Amino acid sequence: MSANFIDIATIWVHAGKGGNGSVSFHREKFVAAGGPDGGDGGRGGDVVFQADDNLSTLMDFRYKRKYNAEDGQDGGAKRCTGKNAPDLIIKVPRGTLVKEAETGLVIADISGDEPVVIAKGGKGGWGNVHFATPTRQIPKFAKPGMPGEDLHITLELKVIADVGLIGFPNVGKSTLISAISAAKPKIANYHFTTLSPVLGVVRVGPEQSFVAADIPGLIEGASEGVGLGHDFLRHVERCRLLLHVVDVSGCEGRDPKQDFEMINAELENFSPKLAERPQIVLGNKCDVATEEQIAEFRSYIEEKGLLFLPISAATRQGLDDLPGIVFDHLKELPPIQIFQPEYVKKQAQEGSRSFTVSKTEAHTFSVDAPWLERILEGSNVDDYESLQYFQTQLGESGILDELVRQGVEENDTILIGEYQFDYVF
Ligand code: GDP
Ligand code: MG
Repeated sequence: MSANFIDIATIWVHAGKGGNGSVSFHREKFVAAGGPDGGDGGRGGDVVFQADDNLSTLMDFRYKRKYNAEDGQDGGAKRCTGKNAPDLIIKVPRGTLVKEAETGLVIADISGDEPVVIAKGGKGGWGNVHFATPTRQIPKFAKPGMPGEDLHITLELKVIADVGLIGFPNVGKSTLISAISAAKPKIANYHFTTLSPVLGVVRVGPEQSFVAADIPGLIEGASEGVGLGHDFLRHVERCRLLLHVVDVSGCEGRDPKQDFEMINAELENFSPKLAERPQIVLGNKCDVATEEQIAEFRSYIEEKGLLFLPISAATRQGLDDLPGIVFDHLKELPPIQIFQPEYVKKQAQEGSRSFTVSKTEAHTFSVDAPWLERILEGSNVDDYESLQYFQTQLGESGILDELVRQGVEENDTILIGEYQFDYVF
């Protein structure tokens, strides 16, 4: 069954939280109270994805679904800055698409060599050293670290290959790729076929080569009308050219024309764009086919305006010329598709001080502003200086103006997260 083969997975990635800023005061013998010396928190670790050519499936993600980068260290006394947390590096097969799980929008295409940051760690909070001013010499608050980004993502493997081999199970795709490249896929005379994509580099001449992919076959029983698996089609999506392998001998009681049409119908079904991808039709098993069988299928294909090449993967008939012919075709075709990011993170986690104010009942207003709640969490609301800092934030962000606009009155209740305040002029 196609379920044996994992080329799609849904996981959660959570970048590390920034360390909290520290509230601390310089102390020396015989000095009653020194200045603030609380250091900053360290940065939370990023969640980073990197392509690894030793991997060919997303199997590992089936067993582990949650990935957390470490939090940054809190700041300390004596202006001690907390340590930045290391990044969490997640290795995936080359060609893995990272999508936002709910919307399916592409976050990144992990097909290059560069590591890609998928979830950013939170910045560390400022220690109280930053908050001393001529009028506020004893800042008893510091900023908490910012949370790390938290994403629910889908990983989808779409291998990076110039050429994709398509065709029914047992037509000889694996035999072919092992005959024209160094790839060593399982070859078997039963309908389980390949379980994960096998990539092979096909050498054409000095400095000339292309990558071919023998992709997971159609699901077992497809020919009996169980339905053809879509799993394998995901992998040919990037291929520039399809080599459609057909068993011309019909040695398994199959009809090559019918096979050819069924595979194409399935391509069309999956994606009309994929159905238009250029194809070369390889009539395999010519060693056990009759001249009439080959001629009949050849004219059937050529009438459609497609190139037909008779081969035998078993006896190597036609295989010496095949790489060159494929290579010449590839020269005329556009490069491998790289998916562009579509997903825009909802809100920059810092800088933006967005909020919504709503009147929940008479004399009660609710302020929805997660960033403000974080400031509240990090400050001591009984402390005058902290409260003043908090009030400055209320003013600068425009929240006070908005409350006034909505008709706030003296002694009305203002709800901010779990906190409750009286509005006083
Ligand atoms: P796949 O399922 O399309 O990957 O097919 P395989 O490469 O696993 O081959 C299925 C069976 O067909 C194996 O027993 C192969 O030895 C056999 N086979 C493959 N190519 C040829 C060929 O050109 N001639 C003959 N006679 N048998 C072949
Ligand atoms: Mg195979």
